[in-house]
Amino acid sequence: MTLTSHILGYPRIGDKRQSKFALEKYWKGKASKADTQAALQAVFDDNIAEQLNAGLSVITTGDFAHYDLVLTQAVAFGVLPKRFAGAEKLDTFDRQFYFARGRDHTGQLADTAAWQMTKWFDTNYHYLVPELDKNQDFSNTDFSQIFKQVADAKAIIAKRGAQNPLKVVLVGPLSFLYLSSIKTNEQAHSAGCGCGHGASADVSANDDDKLALLDKILPVYADLLAQLGEQGVEWVQLDEPILSLDLPNHWQQAFERAYNGLQRTPPKLIVASYFDTLGNNCNVAVNLPVSGIHIDITRAKSPKQYAAQVIDQLPTHKILSIGVVDGRSVWTTDQVAASDVLTAAYERLGERLWVGSGSSLLHLPVDLAHETLPSALHGKLAFAKQKLSEVALCARLATGEIAPDDTASQIKLTPLADTAKVRAGEFAERYAKQNERLNLPLLPTTTIGSFPQTDQIRKARSDWNKGVIDDAAYERAMKAEIQKAVDEQEKLGIDVLVHGEAERTDMVEYFAKYMDGFWLSANGWVQSYGTRCVRPPIVVGDISRPKAMTVDWTVYAQSLTDKPMKGMLTGPVTILNWSFAPSDAASRDVLRLQIAEAINQEVSDLQDAGIAIVQIDEPAFREGLPLKTADQAHYWQQAVAAFKHSCSIAHKDTQIHTHMCYSSFHDCLAHISAMDADVITIETARSGLQLLDAFKGNGYHNAIGPGVYDIHSPRTPSANDMQVVIDEAVKYVPVERLWINPDCGLKTRGWEETIAALANMVSMTKAVRQLY
Ligand code: GLN
Ligand code: ZN
Repeated sequence: MTLTSHILGYPRIGDKRQSKFALEKYWKGKASKADTQAALQAVFDDNIAEQLNAGLSVITTGDFAHYDLVLTQAVAFGVLPKRFAGAEKLDTFDRQFYFARGRDHTGQLADTAAWQMTKWFDTNYHYLVPELDKNQDFSNTDFSQIFKQVADAKAIIAKRGAQNPLKVVLVGPLSFLYLSSIKTNEQAHSAGCGCGHGASADVSANDDDKLALLDKILPVYADLLAQLGEQGVEWVQLDEPILSLDLPNHWQQAFERAYNGLQRTPPKLIVASYFDTLGNNCNVAVNLPVSGIHIDITRAKSPKQYAAQVIDQLPTHKILSIGVVDGRSVWTTDQVAASDVLTAAYERLGERLWVGSGSSLLHLPVDLAHETLPSALHGKLAFAKQKLSEVALCARLATGEIAPDDTASQIKLTPLADTAKVRAGEFAERYAKQNERLNLPLLPTTTIGSFPQTDQIRKARSDWNKGVIDDAAYERAMKAEIQKAVDEQEKLGIDVLVHGEAERTDMVEYFAKYMDGFWLSANGWVQSYGTRCVRPPIVVGDISRPKAMTVDWTVYAQSLTDKPMKGMLTGPVTILNWSFAPSDAASRDVLRLQIAEAINQEVSDLQDAGIAIVQIDEPAFREGLPLKTADQAHYWQQAVAAFKHSCSIAHKDTQIHTHMCYSSFHDCLAHISAMDADVITIETARSGLQLLDAFKGNGYHNAIGPGVYDIHSPRTPSANDMQVVIDEAVKYVPVERLWINPDCGLKTRGWEETIAALANMVSMTKAVRQLY
């Protein structure tokens, strides 16, 4: 017999990013709704077909969101915040885009701030935070999109003469509420920074108002489940990823209550946890009144033991789906290890064992077939499509029908010989020496690094990549851009200049390209949010820096001005977090430090070349934080150590800046302080100055550049708007330690608006200086 095999979800961008291109065309008004939906339908059909081709027994659907699954579900549940006046006139297809983008592309409704988005647990995917009202009403439901997927999937299965049961994916009621926010007043949208990776919003559990909505939302689930049952759907997977968090008691307790109300058949329910172990929630999860639960063993410290523990507690009639194929790793599954876990589980569970992917495959690039692999990687990588076959294969391993191949492709790492180093000197001494060397005015002005990435820059790069222009021509083009950036900054009267990052596509990819130990795919796109995709570098071995990465550009830029030119690097924590790398803490610690060493060498070369200020960006500093509280202290310690190592070579009079773009520091200020950068530039304008609050009192001793304007805002900020930030900042931070800068890099803006905003920033600064 063959065991049940399934996945938790699949990418919806398409193997050639078809969905992205179709939607962007639609939003620009260059494609009809019918054509757009047909393009999306083709990707949907493929997703179902690929599951069948791979031989999976249960076919998964319902996860094909056009922007984001949480958003789709909120819209289906009738969520329609009052401030989106007129949105009820749009069908749910258009309405979801209005909420997500704050813009009605049909042109009927006014622009407004979009829904907030934030990171989906510890992944680099961003979901849309449902904007609920304290008295949220869920009566205006529209399940048509879900039902259509069911009907379409059934048709594809039937057309093949197959009879695979269907499983529909929904976000479970507790996770849905936990991940929502209850709006008290209008909140700004976090569209993310110039980096193309989104930013984080504040979503927390200490909001009883959310749990109070449980009784209102359960009938909606009950209604939906009943209708799915009538349509012949055998299974519904209710995703409850919050089961991997250390949940407050009342949230834990709410699970039993909620699922008691949903218990019914058909369809049978399977509650899915992923991204970490069930931890303290294990007992609650296994005893829920449902047909089965799913666990992700790919992130467990001892997978076999974890599975055994869950089986020990599992009531005897229940199904256990074990996720052995890592939904977040681009490496092939270790068949020997998988078989070891699965055969043991099969012995105890028999047919009650299902075999699955750990999490949704959403977090993986779609198809390895579009890549040209170096020979060392042959047979070692698997993207989403390849993982489908792996899941089917693992189901056969479990029963012993086939024997495992030795496919272990774990990369072997050699830790650095030395431990992490720290920089000499205290901040006060360093800052005094730096001031002497730099001779800057009070409240020095600077920018975060990038200047507009114009079409002209993109064209030069694409011509160069295609071989249309040679290296020398490309270098000339980039140098011309640097010259322009320097000239504009000089004209504006900015104090500390940047070269503008014209030569960089992406702040991580640029460095990964230069370092040994990374492989860059050609088509390995992964959805970051909406139609935004990223192509994370893949760690394939020990990381090192064979040669300087930024020195020539920086030195050239410095040669054009007498003002100090900031060297611009991406930090080790961010480079690791935005790459595909092993998920275990030990490997990550080794890699982070290897990257830190590479950055350290770059700092050294920049400083030897006469560069007096180096900025090491760490926008993802907080993102790698493990889900379980017990693992967090170790992460912070290692992340701080890696950052400090990266700048440990800096002389006392070399000034180290860092930059972060997010606004929730309240839980990690001590760690940010411990990084001990001389100057930190941070996002403040958008978060309504809440952020500065964290820096109050004795919280932070080094210099700070609170972003004085939101680079995402389409309108030019006035000098007055910006002064508000400074007026507030001086209450908390001595003026001698304040810097003036925008919120983030300017690469997504145009030159005209950039110059207008920076001119106001400089004139505001000059006026404020008079006061001190
Ligand atoms: N130096 C980068 C830039 O200006 C920083 C981007 C970021 O932190 N996200 O684009
Ligand atoms: Zn930023």
